[in-house]
Amino acid sequence: MSKKSISRKKFLAGMGLGTLFSGSLLASFPNQDRKPVSNFEKSGNFNRLLIKTGVLVVGGGPAGIGAALGAARCGAETFIVENYGFFGGVGTWMLGMSINQMRPESKPRSAVHEQVIGKLEAYGPSAAKFVKHGILCNVDYYKVSLLDALEEAGCKYLVHTKVVDTIVENNRVAGVVIATKRGLATIMADVVIDCTGDADVSYFAGADTLKDPEQVSPQTLAIRVSQVQDDGITYKHRMDSERVQKAKAKYPLIPNSWTLARIANDHSFYVNHAGTKVFGHLDITDQFVFTEAECKSRRQVVEMVEAAKEFGPPELRNIEISGTGPQIGIRESRRIKGLYILTEEDAVQGSTFDDAIAWRSGAMDIGFTRLSEMKTHDVPYRALLPEHIDGLLVAGRAISATHIGASSGKSMGNCIATGHAAGVAASLSIQQKCQPRELKAGKIQEVLRKHEVDLTRGGKSQSEDAFDNI
Ligand SMILES: Cc1cc2nc3c(=O)[nH]c(=O)nc-3n(C[C@H](O)[C@H](O)[C@H](O)COP(=O)(O)OP(=O)(O)OC[C@H]3O[C@@H](n4cnc5c(N)ncnc54)[C@H](O)[C@@H]3O)c2cc1C
Repeated sequence: MSKKSISRKKFLAGMGLGTLFSGSLLASFPNQDRKPVSNFEKSGNFNRLLIKTGVLVVGGGPAGIGAALGAARCGAETFIVENYGFFGGVGTWMLGMSINQMRPESKPRSAVHEQVIGKLEAYGPSAAKFVKHGILCNVDYYKVSLLDALEEAGCKYLVHTKVVDTIVENNRVAGVVIATKRGLATIMADVVIDCTGDADVSYFAGADTLKDPEQVSPQTLAIRVSQVQDDGITYKHRMDSERVQKAKAKYPLIPNSWTLARIANDHSFYVNHAGTKVFGHLDITDQFVFTEAECKSRRQVVEMVEAAKEFGPPELRNIEISGTGPQIGIRESRRIKGLYILTEEDAVQGSTFDDAIAWRSGAMDIGFTRLSEMKTHDVPYRALLPEHIDGLLVAGRAISATHIGASSGKSMGNCIATGHAAGVAASLSIQQKCQPRELKAGKIQEVLRKHEVDLTRGGKSQSEDAFDNI
């Protein structure tokens, strides 16, 4: 065996991919350095099979991590693919903002949540700090701790892998098409879980989706700044609206106010803000609008830092940009039209459902537009099921909900919870050889209880602390 092949094998083994790529499946993905002569469409077939798996999770944000860990915990052969080079989704793009609703009311919410927390805390105080219901973390530790969790659970994974289409057979999603450095390839699966946040997989498969371009929540490019002159105790520094008004004439793209918050046990600060709110409602599922949102945001954050230096309080006069997110953070885009659509009323009243598979807590937050109280409310299994397509479940911020329903409880702890439930459901449907929609919710609930999920928390009022966005 050549040196080259040994190191490649070791590398794949480190990713949990050793077994998968060592056998015939590798041979079925042409090992050629030059692009094949014919492209995917011309070849007219799907013979460039890269992977075949039981559960395929698309998207490695909070929902995807919950889904992969949930499915693997049930013994399903689980594969997760992610567009970026790391897992964590918006939780990492936002450079340190708190991962909320991980232990609401200071109570653990599931074995999966605790696995995520445990892996992060294993890196010590530099990695994370618990505040109320959420964790403030240094995202570079978070990224590797998620790899640790996936590998511990036996999930196989690929990064730098974008799903660009689906393979639908007899109204069932049978696989997806991914973009790779060697061109397009396919991954076939018994059940696919769409955790893309934007319902990409569902949309490609022809599922009905929901979207409100006229009122979509703003996107935000996170900034990390250093050289804040603080006394070592202050957690938040505010660039208030009075100072912003003075700065606006010179820096017209800046938002109306913003806050700098300390990254866990670090000397730098991250900035969360209303981002594109000043530009109107931008629907990022339109590629031209996505480009506009991203590029204007990049100009905006430079203006924000310059404005803070010139017009901000004394402690911000010397700040420096030390980084920005890999892309704008997306609060809301496209969602599935499922068998049940969660609404504002469900959140305000604290609705409970017989087919509850998760609950959502926290605040109704439409991106600095409205932050009002809600009750802990159930998520029915039906909200994870696209109306007409089989072989597919959805979790995270793309579940079936209205504009405000979606904003209610989109905190990351809640997205992990719907992901966890989708993972369990996918695994059960494989075991029972049925479609996800044919599963009895009671069976999913039974397994979730074994995973330490308390499904009786929906319908309850929350303590003051729960609303705090930290
Ligand atoms: C600016 C902002 C501030 C927020 N503040 C907070 C906060 O303080 N605390 C909190 O808990 N929550 C906060 N949220 C909400 C929370 O971050 C999101 O609701 C949550 O991350 C959604 O999780 P998700 O897994 O559904 O989607 P995402 O986090 O969006 O993850 C989706 C993942 O799928 C990948 N992906 C997308 N399309 C594809 C594709 N076609 N192929 C492969 N991979 C794909 C993406 O790269 C990404 O990793 C905030 C959100 C934003 C945008």
